[in-house]
Amino acid sequence: MSTDVRDLAGRPVIIGGGIAGLTTALHLAPEPVLLLSRSPLGADASSAWAQGGLAASLGEDDDPALHLADTLAAGDGLCDAQAARRIVYAAPTAIEDLARLGVRFDRTPAGALRLGLEAAHSRRRIVHAGGDGSGREVMRALVAAVRSTPTIEVIEGVEARRLVVEDGRVTGVLVSFSTGPVFLATGRVVLATGGIGGLFLDSTNPLGSCGQGLALAARAGAVLADLEFIQFHPTALDGPRRPMPLISEAVRGEGAALVDETGRRFLAGVRGAELAPRDIVARAVWKHLADGHRVFLDVRERPGAAFAQHFPTIASACSKVGIDPARDLIPIRPAQHYHMGGVAVDLGGRTSVQGLWACGEIASTGLHGANRLASNSLTEAVVCARWVAESVAASPYDGGKPAVAHDLPAQDPKLVRPLLSHCLGVMRDGEGLKETARALLPLLQRHGAASDPAAVGLVFAVAALLRRESRGAHFRTDFPHHAAVARRSQITLDAAIAAARELASSPTLESVF
Ligand SMILES: Cc1cc2nc3c(=O)[nH]c(=O)nc-3n(C[C@H](O)[C@H](O)[C@H](O)COP(=O)(O)OP(=O)(O)OC[C@H]3O[C@@H](n4cnc5c(N)ncnc54)[C@H](O)[C@@H]3O)c2cc1C
Repeated sequence: MSTDVRDLAGRPVIIGGGIAGLTTALHLAPEPVLLLSRSPLGADASSAWAQGGLAASLGEDDDPALHLADTLAAGDGLCDAQAARRIVYAAPTAIEDLARLGVRFDRTPAGALRLGLEAAHSRRRIVHAGGDGSGREVMRALVAAVRSTPTIEVIEGVEARRLVVEDGRVTGVLVSFSTGPVFLATGRVVLATGGIGGLFLDSTNPLGSCGQGLALAARAGAVLADLEFIQFHPTALDGPRRPMPLISEAVRGEGAALVDETGRRFLAGVRGAELAPRDIVARAVWKHLADGHRVFLDVRERPGAAFAQHFPTIASACSKVGIDPARDLIPIRPAQHYHMGGVAVDLGGRTSVQGLWACGEIASTGLHGANRLASNSLTEAVVCARWVAESVAASPYDGGKPAVAHDLPAQDPKLVRPLLSHCLGVMRDGEGLKETARALLPLLQRHGAASDPAAVGLVFAVAALLRRESRGAHFRTDFPHHAAVARRSQITLDAAIAAARELASSPTLESVF
């Protein structure tokens, strides 16, 4: 990098080079902005791995009102209906913007967008590119646009390790460069750090998606929302590879069946069958596996011989483990895939900390409720990025406050992964969550390499303990029913630590929760 980073101090800083960070940076132009990414742009971001595409009501038989109804139904009573309405109504324009930017969406010979079908959508409304290479194509276009925008300074290979907050407002970011720590003074930071899959043993996310942005926000005192809602995708390719290769829902949208080792379609009796909402399908697969069965996707009849042409990325992942989907059944099982919860934000991405915004998977806008409707996350990121940029641009210039940089240890989630995988999987119970909260507290307090992952795990576990009901992706075997009233949840790291301390000193769950 030729620029002296000290010359860049004072600019808004965007942390994260996925679809949310890149789109926010583009919308901020021509305001000079600094974009930090741990990996080279386009690598190690879930955005580049997205297969299905982006949901938007663009079909002739479709309407944003129908998209909204499907989103609210999948969200199981927990969506913020107003936020969801604004986002889905803005989705068609956001797709047009991407096409104008140069994204080559799949089209019919007549030039119309090809629209795919995914679970719990009542219409074909998934815009895709390169068959199942949607994320790769969107990222290609965004990266090219960012690289040719002179006001966006991109620094790759660096990691934001702490937000510095004074009197409730952001004053800068502590960043780890290969040459050592650097303090970047700024009063405006956008977190766009993606998801949390790297905190689980079985996930479809890049390993680097391990909730680091959530740790930054939590330690800055930000309010976090709906953390207990973690989505498990029902169909990850069951094998030794980590992260687990995803087999998109679009495959079931094209007619693939879920069968067990006897060939039985065990979801046939469930409403919506293979295309029921994700939480329902994931639980059914989980239960069937727990009952001793094996579970497979059968694509041999539908989509059949056209499979590899429609889904080249998935066909290639199968071929690497010796499976020919046109001939063989594909072994699958659920894996952590997406986080509905995150940093609580309004639709301008403003968090509870002054000078801190969040966008993309890390943000909790209220769109997804208890269960994300397939392909609503890329849409949410591109739609909200515009509003986040407008909000950042409208906030008064604040160059932050210089401070001395100091070293913080690199974080490693390996001690936390088994704990979270055990207690925060497809099924949870109070005892497992309590046990995990007690185990995470000392890891957090040791201030070592597991401290940030443990902090994130702790807020998850306490949020899941506090929700004494089952709803959407949060299923408690000890509270298997809906509560009478659906309420979104909010928590801070301090509150979670206080609860865990009380839990550690109290043998009974009831005294704390
Ligand atoms: C396999 C797969 C398929 C999917 N398919 C779809 C789909 O078809 N449709 C859909 O809507 N959604 C899909 N999703 C979900 C969707 O891809 C993500 O929700 C979305 O891409 C998140 O975008 P983002 O910009 O928030 O985060 P990401 O794209 O994950 O980007 C995060 C960025 O932050 C950087 N970063 C993280 N921490 C730091 C730090 N401390 N310092 C500096 N940089 C940091 C990372 O390196 C990365 O560049 C899929 C997800 C996966 C994993």
